[in-house]
Amino acid sequence: VSVDRALIDIERACGDGSVLTDPDVLESYGRDTSEVAPQRPVAAVRASTAEHVSAVMRAASEHAVAVTPRGAGTGRVGAATPTPGGLVLVSDRMRSIERIDERDLVATTQPGVVLGDLHRRAEEQGVFFPPDPNSLDECTIGGNVATNAGGPRALKYGTMRNWVLGLQVVTGDGTILELGKQTPKGVTGYDLTALVVGSEGTLAVTTRATLKLLPAPEKVVTMLVFLPDHESVERAVGAAYARRIVPRCVEFLDSIALELVRPDAGIPIPENAQSMLLVELDGDEQTVDRQLEICGEAMLQAGAEDVLVAKNTAERQRLWGARKELSYTMRRQATNKLSEDVCVPRTRIAALLDRCARLSEQTGITMPTYGHAGDGNLHVNFLWDRPDERPQVEHAIRSVFEAVLEMGGTLSGEHGIGLLKVPYLHMEQPAELISLQEQIKGLFDPKGILNPDKCFPEGARRFHGAHGAC
Ligand SMILES: Cc1cc2nc3c(=O)[nH]c(=O)nc-3n(C[C@H](O)[C@H](O)[C@H](O)COP(=O)(O)OP(=O)(O)OC[C@H]3O[C@@H](n4cnc5c(N)ncnc54)[C@H](O)[C@@H]3O)c2cc1C
Repeated sequence: VSVDRALIDIERACGDGSVLTDPDVLESYGRDTSEVAPQRPVAAVRASTAEHVSAVMRAASEHAVAVTPRGAGTGRVGAATPTPGGLVLVSDRMRSIERIDERDLVATTQPGVVLGDLHRRAEEQGVFFPPDPNSLDECTIGGNVATNAGGPRALKYGTMRNWVLGLQVVTGDGTILELGKQTPKGVTGYDLTALVVGSEGTLAVTTRATLKLLPAPEKVVTMLVFLPDHESVERAVGAAYARRIVPRCVEFLDSIALELVRPDAGIPIPENAQSMLLVELDGDEQTVDRQLEICGEAMLQAGAEDVLVAKNTAERQRLWGARKELSYTMRRQATNKLSEDVCVPRTRIAALLDRCARLSEQTGITMPTYGHAGDGNLHVNFLWDRPDERPQVEHAIRSVFEAVLEMGGTLSGEHGIGLLKVPYLHMEQPAELISLQEQIKGLFDPKGILNPDKCFPEGARRFHGAHGAC
């Protein structure tokens, strides 16, 4: 069959051991961290160079075999779930940080580099790479580029797209292209780098990323702000801005999320706390100390019942450790969990939290909420045990999406569409816009073999049936 012929060509080009077919190994590449059902690939391919990736794409094109690029598989929407009958292209042989230049403030890495490793290497050289998805000790640069990842620090520093200067990519037909630039500025031609960032492996495979760096901030402080209700949360989220201060993050945890981090937080969380903001400031020592005082005062005026400050790096790290584990801790609270990552304007946070509370009451589904409140990007979770509760969950999800769109928000602040959100995309985007994007995909990937069932309804329908969903 054609896939076998493609694999023969691929192994010839990439060398012995580059094609994996062991069922246990393939099982481990069958899913990401979403609820999307696992799909075992026909084979996994380990490329070591851009030329290998090019050979893989040429063989896959010739034999019409789907290819799903894969980083660490920490994605939340099934975007790295293999296309039925297709291959997975893994990046574990492309893990080199090729350059960190502290004078040009540029780093060059291969796609399989784990983000946390880049952070540590940059810090050793006194520089700083801001994007910090909470999965940073697992996720890869290739995955971060493909999902336009952002984390808590996106509030001050933006998401991955703001930090990618250039990309080496391989398109669907195997063409190797250098997109973008090595310099902080540059406007030659269309910004195809920005287009590839966030394209969820549907346009091209990233084989190298050129990233922008900053000098590391001198000091970072973390403040815990305890608030009694949704209105005070919204006021506190905007309070620093109103004093002309841009925190590097403002993270929100509701009462359920707070209970879950309490045992590992390392800082005493008041017994009756309803919600917490984790506010972080960075910069030079004098500025940070002054801003800390102003922010603390602003939070109290916004209605905070208590404001605590982490005393040292160990306390900060422990607190963030608990926050980073929250998604996994929450998963253990019920038989089933779905998590959305909607984003609303900052001034609609209280309205969104109120709407979620009402929906939870109406449907009986537990809906804990936490996330990057400074950006209006909240993870609304849906926890349930019994299979017969599923229709209520579907109703609650659709209602949250409707509310978010009414408020001028978006269905996904950071996780993307993947497979999970394909059935909802039309709620936010008109058919003409979806069709234009499908046509753009056709230019990068003429045979439609690169992660073809993701993001858009036509591809999803082709592989997953009438509803275009999994
Ligand atoms: C605990 C936890 C916390 C998280 N916190 C955040 C957060 O704060 N912010 C955030 O944005 N996300 C977060 N995520 C989601 C996830 O970690 C990010 O989307 C991350 O960028 C995925 O990286 P990955 O290497 O795991 O990619 P994968 O999951 O393997 O793949 C994701 C997508 O990237 C594509 N891809 C991977 N490598 C390449 C490549 N070389 N070329 C082309 N396409 C490629 C895949 O095809 C897929 O479409 C979190 C996930 C978990 C489990």
